[in-house]
Amino acid sequence: MPNIKCNVTECDFNESVECAAPMIQVNRNHANNAGTSDQTKCETFKPKE
Ligand code: SF4
Repeated sequence: MPNIKCNVTECDFNESVECAAPMIQVNRNHANNAGTSDQTKCETFKPKE
């Protein structure tokens, strides 16, 4: 897994502003054909408990 910098520190997988999940799933976000990063989203996000 390459290093993934992620600022979503409220995610349970986030460790020191990097993603520590073994893999992540990224999907389109309400778009049939993404043209900007805003039209993508990390599905692996899990809120901290
Ligand atoms: S799972 Fe997604 S949102 Fe959570 S730390 Fe990794 S890249 Fe960021």
